Amino acid sequence: MAQVKLNQVYKRYSGDVTAVTDFNLDIKDQEFLVLVGPSGCGKSTTLRMIAGLEEISEGELFIGDRLVNDVAPKDRDIAMVFQSYALYPHMNVYQNMAFGLKLRKFKKDDIDKRVKEAAKILDIEHLLDRKPKALSGGQRQRVALGRAIVREPQVFLMDEPLSNLDAKLRVQMRTEISKLHQRLKTTVIYVTHDQTEAMTMGDRIVVMKDGLIQQADTPTQIYHHPANVFVAGFIGSPAMNFVEGQLVEEGGDLIFKNGLNIKVPEGKAKMLREKGYVGKEVIFGIRPEDIHDEPLFLESSPDSLVKAKVEVAENMGAEMYLYLSGITDKWVTARVNARTQFAAGNEVTLALDMNKSHVFDKE
Ligand code: ADP
Repeated sequence: MAQVKLNQVYKRYSGDVTAVTDFNLDIKDQEFLVLVGPSGCGKSTTLRMIAGLEEISEGELFIGDRLVNDVAPKDRDIAMVFQSYALYPHMNVYQNMAFGLKLRKFKKDDIDKRVKEAAKILDIEHLLDRKPKALSGGQRQRVALGRAIVREPQVFLMDEPLSNLDAKLRVQMRTEISKLHQRLKTTVIYVTHDQTEAMTMGDRIVVMKDGLIQQADTPTQIYHHPANVFVAGFIGSPAMNFVEGQLVEEGGDLIFKNGLNIKVPEGKAKMLREKGYVGKEVIFGIRPEDIHDEPLFLESSPDSLVKAKVEVAENMGAEMYLYLSGITDKWVTARVNARTQFAAGNEVTLALDMNKSHVFDKE
């Protein structure tokens, strides 16, 4: 068990690529930390620097109290789980799990105890004699996890460990890895490009873009208080709706002009005035679930009604995604209860929950 600390860490590859810039983060002991962002944002590079598989160009990396910049990967007391599983095809499951311990000259009895314990935790005791090619994707993933668990490392590093699994198995393994973390109470640093994995698994999420941390916070904070337009658009599905405009004072009210011409409720208006947004060009954001169709909500929100035409209605079973024209110059997505039974072509009136709306600086 250990905390991991990165101080002003940079990674420069040859050819003038700066993959990670001024990365500062304290990962707490036993924390499940997720690095998330689009492809190429520097997630894997960061993880590989922590693992010792990439050199750090500048800055300091601590695992526990130890500065490990120059410590070899095998001496860092970490275990890494890769997307590809990296199992040895000619060895059976038992041998795959035992191999790392054998290399480290563990006693045979000790190896046997650890492998059997890990196999029990992962429910793969019945597979110990099989070769990887005789296993399903989910079983291979468990073996890869088992190989990390037997090492009893201070920190688990996981690089997109679920991306080779089909959608259903991915959801199942997601909860299994979370349960495993609760049981082992080891620090986990987990890389994914999938915001759902980040939201559901992380105690804390670090959203990255172009090698820079955009926001590091709990899933709830990131969802409800995104630091900028990028984070707001990246986290959440379907994505937040955005429209550019200006906040203008009119007769004592704060109005969002251009796309919407909609009054901002007083509490929110006060906060926006204090932040100096009046008269400024801004980006207004609203999540699909904050656009409502319930009659009661419409009655109590006379200032934030919008008329729209349903272009596409996707029935997801319990809920429905509406893609709407006529509100802004782009289609707006709303997420409503499927009982509503909207259909393409319907003209509808909806209400925006302006108290839940977001305002961002134009970048
Ligand atoms: P992610 O894991 O978020 O997809 P990476 O950390 O793999 O991103 O890559 C970050 C950036 O560094 C990208 O622009 C990528 O092309 C570049 N990069 C990664 N590895 C190398 C390398 N070995 N040499 C040069 N550039 C690299």
